Amino acid sequence: MPFDLGSLRLSSGEGRRIDVPIALEPVAFGGQTYAPDVDGDIPVTLDIARTTGQGYSLRLRYSVGLDGPCMRCLEPAREEVVIDSREVDQPGGSGDMNSPYVEDDVLDVEGWAREALVLALPTQIVCREDCAGLCAECGANLNQAGPDHSHPKPPDPRFEKLSELRFD
Ligand SMILES: [Zn+2]
Ligand SMILES: [Zn+2]
Repeated sequence: MPFDLGSLRLSSGEGRRIDVPIALEPVAFGGQTYAPDVDGDIPVTLDIARTTGQGYSLRLRYSVGLDGPCMRCLEPAREEVVIDSREVDQPGGSGDMNSPYVEDDVLDVEGWAREALVLALPTQIVCREDCAGLCAECGANLNQAGPDHSHPKPPDPRFEKLSELRFD
């Protein structure tokens, strides 16, 4: 649901804080899917201030837990993400002063909330900081297999060729 900023009828310099419920879709990240751990809507806190010159200064905050596979071992992982994002939309403004989420005084809260979430994600979602991941050879979970898990090194093909040589 887009939010109509104009309906607040703020005058220049005036501000308002409101909570808006949004529906948050699962997030695709690093080839995996992470789903919000709540059923239904997530409350998002919006701080809306009217700037001089008929613009808006906006702040969006919320937090959400995401459930999905650990990127190293594929066991269930959970990431708590705290989002705190700011936007400015100034008529006639350019670049940073022209929010992509505001169009004719209407704010795309969900679009903003979604993109701010992606930006707030860590580089990797893991089950725990020191997750050892999977064995590159056999795919065993190294958290369970332990540090002694190893495979005999395959013979180096160069030495194999050497052993075929005969010196008569
Ligand atoms: Zn893991
Ligand atoms: Zn292995």
